[in-house]
Amino acid sequence: MQIKIEKTLTPKQKPDFKNLGFGKIFTDHMFMMNYTEGEGWHDARVVPYQDLTLSPACMVFHYGQEMFEGLKAYKGVDGKVRLFRPDMNAKRTNSSNERLCIPQLPEEDFVEAVKSVVDVDRDWIPTEPGTSLYVRPFIIATDDFLGVAPSKTYLFIIILSPSGAYYASGLAPVGIWIEDEYVRAVRGGIGYAKTGGNYAASLAAQVKAHDDGYSQVLWLDGVDRKYIEEVGAMNIFFKINGKIVTPVLNGSILPGITRNSVINLCKSWGMEVEERKISVEELLEAQTSGALEEVFGTGTAAVISPVGKLRYKNDVMIINNNEIGPVSNKLYNTITGLQNGTLKDEFGWTVTL
Ligand SMILES: *Cc1c(COP(=O)(O)O)cnc(C)c1O
Repeated sequence: MQIKIEKTLTPKQKPDFKNLGFGKIFTDHMFMMNYTEGEGWHDARVVPYQDLTLSPACMVFHYGQEMFEGLKAYKGVDGKVRLFRPDMNAKRTNSSNERLCIPQLPEEDFVEAVKSVVDVDRDWIPTEPGTSLYVRPFIIATDDFLGVAPSKTYLFIIILSPSGAYYASGLAPVGIWIEDEYVRAVRGGIGYAKTGGNYAASLAAQVKAHDDGYSQVLWLDGVDRKYIEEVGAMNIFFKINGKIVTPVLNGSILPGITRNSVINLCKSWGMEVEERKISVEELLEAQTSGALEEVFGTGTAAVISPVGKLRYKNDVMIINNNEIGPVSNKLYNTITGLQNGTLKDEFGWTVTL
């Protein structure tokens, strides 16, 4: 893939890297590539960050044919820039694309595209502990046509956003609302695809949970509303009687890259890991008997998010005294250590540029 690079003539003022927040500041450049039926993907380019001009009839606005990804670029203490398992984002892109009738994107082109734009904006990668450059690749359907059918044209775009430490003052446990009314996805639906539609479906429950003082929603399965699926933008893990348990990927759960990394790390440490169905009842019982030792979410944004409180109907479970457990802590330190290059990468997960 040939990538044309057009640098901005008017670079922006860099933000205060100590005060970034998440997702509000964008860098000087973006990656773009077009797809046209018959021609395939073409015109790969890095261009100055800019607004898009699209027809109001553009398909993505009406039927939501789009996908997105999320990964981060880290600048280590050694000054090197690292990506964490970008090949997994490339694979997941094509899995989402397949479900959404978006054309496949060669995996190596996805990774090259990420590398090219991150390289051009490498001065935007913050270096304060816990900070990183968030990378948001996405594809939108661009035919201006109101008929319901897969689009014949698409845009693949990557934007970059320097982001602050997820935890301003250390790993703080969060409170989670187990949603028993709304569902996010059903088997056979689009739950495993990383696409806006799943998020549109999630907002009402999120608002409800926030109003009640909980930071995230834990979804139950869409059929029986009985089995644990995942949290808003994180997968969920439990430590029960010394074993690590996480819901098995069943088609309605997003296959997180952090989830996969956590499973691999725990196994490499000799821990027993079970991917299986887990019901809310089992969780309540484990809590009552004292077998529930730790609960944590996993995702690119927070890496590991300890859960200190779980609400289900009228029950409120306090996990591990609302403190971070040892496994959560070790996972967080290991994964962030690999990402910033302070730990030796024995898995070959990091890509340096
Ligand atoms: C992105 C995402 C995750 C986490 O995936 P990672 O690859 O670990 O960042 C989990 N659940 C949902 C719904 C997501 O969109």
